[in-house]
Amino acid sequence: MDLSRGRPYLAIPGPSVMPEEVLRAMHRGAPNIYEGALMEMTYGLLPDLKMVARTQHEVAIYIANGHGVWEAALANVLAPGDKILVPATGRFGFGWGGMAEGLGAEPKYVDFGRRNSIDVEKIASELDADKNHEIKAVLAVHVDTSSSAKSDIAALRYAMDATGHPALLMVDCIASLGCDQFEMDAWGVDVMVAACQKGLMVPPGVGFVFFNEKAAEVRKVLPRVSSYWDWSGRAQPEMYYQLFCGTAPTHHLFGLRAALDMIKDEGLENVWARHEVLAKAIWAASEAWGAGGPFELNIADPAARSHAVTALRIGAPYGTALRRWTQDKAGLTLGIGLGMATEDDPGSDGFFRFGHMGHVNAQMILGLLATVQSGMVALDIPHGSGGIEAASAVLARA
Ligand SMILES: *Cc1c(COP(=O)(O)O)cnc(C)c1O
Repeated sequence: MDLSRGRPYLAIPGPSVMPEEVLRAMHRGAPNIYEGALMEMTYGLLPDLKMVARTQHEVAIYIANGHGVWEAALANVLAPGDKILVPATGRFGFGWGGMAEGLGAEPKYVDFGRRNSIDVEKIASELDADKNHEIKAVLAVHVDTSSSAKSDIAALRYAMDATGHPALLMVDCIASLGCDQFEMDAWGVDVMVAACQKGLMVPPGVGFVFFNEKAAEVRKVLPRVSSYWDWSGRAQPEMYYQLFCGTAPTHHLFGLRAALDMIKDEGLENVWARHEVLAKAIWAASEAWGAGGPFELNIADPAARSHAVTALRIGAPYGTALRRWTQDKAGLTLGIGLGMATEDDPGSDGFFRFGHMGHVNAQMILGLLATVQSGMVALDIPHGSGGIEAASAVLARA
């Protein structure tokens, strides 16, 4: 029996569901890039991007995915031979650090495993031990999308400040921006990177680097920065084309305009609150199912869980089997287990993830959870009862 025909739901942690408003805004012919509406609209995006990042500082827009802005941010503050500290809470810290290595920097990884957020005291003691201040930057990931661990960035800044070490605090908010609370200025973040295809609900293709004065000073004294990645001209362009080092990503900008309008209309704090309630509904169902079977949230501590993505453990081969069932039988695509391979489970078949970032509401999450429960019944995966009731209660109380 195939029950998948109907509107599919792509519940992976990026790209996220695209709103009709975004799609409609993008559905148009090529605009004039030399004058008129597009230029005016783009300059108006900058204050709204800063609003979402909670910063008064600068932002540079790149035609790039998350990997592109990882490199853009690093290219503006690191020179070959520079030492950096990389707390890793899953796969993405290693990814960003690896990119820094490619640029000639020397990362030191502090691995917190796949089930924990950053222990800020460990980072502070690494900085304390660096008496000559050779470490130029700490590269932190706010929400690691593979483990769904969320780290306390304000606490990290506090611990760094207590050591008196001048290293820059650079944060990857690619999975968390527009989903989990993030306060660039209040939390003292020097550089932040994000992309458009997760909480910002736009197809992949534009990314952002936010930076403060301290980071701008570091940029100024670097002997050279590749002109395409250089953020100086992009943040303060004299000519519109400088903002993009060439042709603007016209349709993405129209889509982004529509997405930012939706966020402004709802209110950023309401966007965060919606993600929090939906995440709590997922946790409640997961805990009920886990009471009678192998279903388990990857992150035990609720304070260290993302509100945008949830990594789950269920044991091989159930993770992959369940994903296949929900997609083929019910039209629901779940995220694969990422970075979780072990000797016993080289294909990460015991893992999967829910993406619940951006354009997601209560009925979608209830549908997702009930579909997962149906899959567990169909596949004879043991699980506790009351998962849907527990999730409904969370939503009803909100
Ligand atoms: C998605 C993601 C990336 C990579 O972004 P791409 O657009 O796929 O290059 C990096 N870091 C985090 C935390 C992410 O969620």
